[in-house]
Amino acid sequence: MHDFLEQAAEPVRSIEPYQPGKPVDELAREWGIRRENIVKLASNENPLGPSPMALQALTETLKHIARYPDGDSFLLKQALADHYQMFPQQVTVGNGSNDLLVLMAEAFLSPGFSAIFSQYAFMVYKSAVAATGARGIEVPAAGWGHDLEIMTTFICPQTRLIFLANPNNPTGTYFSHDDLKRFMEKVPETVIVILDEAYVEYVEEADFPNSIALMKRFSNLVIVRTFSKIFGLAGCRVGYCLSDSSIARVINRIRQSFNVNSLAQSAAKAALKDETFLTKSRNINQAGKIQLANGLERLGKSFIPSAGNFICMNVGFDVMPLYQKLLRRGVIVRPLVNYCMPHHLRISIGLPDENSRFLSALEASLNE
Ligand SMILES: *Cc1c(COP(=O)(O)O)cnc(C)c1O
Repeated sequence: MHDFLEQAAEPVRSIEPYQPGKPVDELAREWGIRRENIVKLASNENPLGPSPMALQALTETLKHIARYPDGDSFLLKQALADHYQMFPQQVTVGNGSNDLLVLMAEAFLSPGFSAIFSQYAFMVYKSAVAATGARGIEVPAAGWGHDLEIMTTFICPQTRLIFLANPNNPTGTYFSHDDLKRFMEKVPETVIVILDEAYVEYVEEADFPNSIALMKRFSNLVIVRTFSKIFGLAGCRVGYCLSDSSIARVINRIRQSFNVNSLAQSAAKAALKDETFLTKSRNINQAGKIQLANGLERLGKSFIPSAGNFICMNVGFDVMPLYQKLLRRGVIVRPLVNYCMPHHLRISIGLPDENSRFLSALEASLNE
C-alpha cells in the first residue's frame, strides 16, 4: 500500500495531528465502562451543558435546517457588535475560534515570513503557522507563562503575527493589563498580535487586561473569543474575532462562505444574552477550583495557579501510567506530554460530584 504522506505538501509533513480529549463513547467502547459512570474533565467544556436559551434557539432553528445559513452571520455579528459597542465590520465569526486562528495564519503568512508564540502556549498556533510554510518561533516561557518582554526581542522584519493566549491553555497562567499594554507599545504597528481569550469570561483577577479598550487604541490587536467554553456550545463550533475592519476584510476574502452553520449562529446569539447562565457557570467554576485545589493539596500534589476553568497539576513523575489508571476508573483528564510537559495533567473543573470522582480516583490510583 502506498503511503500518501509522501505526496503531502512540504509543510504538512512535519505537522503532528492535534490530540483532543478522549471522547466518552470511545472510553466506553474500549474499556466496557458504562457511559453514565464516565467523568470527562478533559476538554474544558462547561459542565452545566448549554444555556437553556441557546437550546431553545437551536430547537427553533432546526425547523429551517434545509436552508443555507446566512453567509454573513448578520444577526450574530450585529449582536456581538452591540455587545462590545463596535461596528459589525469589526466582527468576524468562525467555525470555532480554531477556524479564525487558522484563517489568520493563512491570510498573513507564507514561506519566508514568521510568527511568534510562547512555549507551552495552545498548540494550534504552532500547527496553523507550520501549515503555511512560514517559520514558527517558539519563545521560552517565564515559569509556565508567557514572557512578553522576551517575546518582543524575537520580532524581526519577517514577523507578521504574534499569538498570545490569555489565560493560557494548558497552563492556566495569565498576564496583566499593564504587561499587555507595555508589550503592545513595543510591537511595531505592522505586526498583528492575536490575543486568544477563550477563557476570559471565567477570569476573576482584577488586573486582567481590558483587551477591548486596548484594541480600540492599537489597531494591530486582534481579539479571538469562543462560544465553546463558558457558553457551553463546543459542539456547535462557533467563535469570533474583534479587529480593525481592514483585518476583518482580509479574513473575509478567504473564509468559506458558510463557515458558521445556522444552528451555531442562532445558539451563539441566544447564549450571549444569557447572563443568568453565565453567572451560574462562573460560580460553579470558582467553587470547583477551590474544591480541586484543596483536594490536590491534601494529596500533596502541586499545581499551577489557574485563571481559567481547568487546573494543571504537577504529578511529579511520568504522567502516562497515572492517566491510564484514571481511565480505568472512568475518569478522563488530559496528559500534557505533547506540550513537552511529561509530568503534568490538565483537569477541567467539573460539577462538585465530578470533581470528587476525580479526586477519589486520583487518590486510589496514586495508592495503587
Ligand atoms: C478551547 C480553546 C480554543 C478554542 O476552541 P474552539 O472550540 O475552536 O473555539 C481556542 N484557544 C484556546 C486557548 C482554547 O483553549
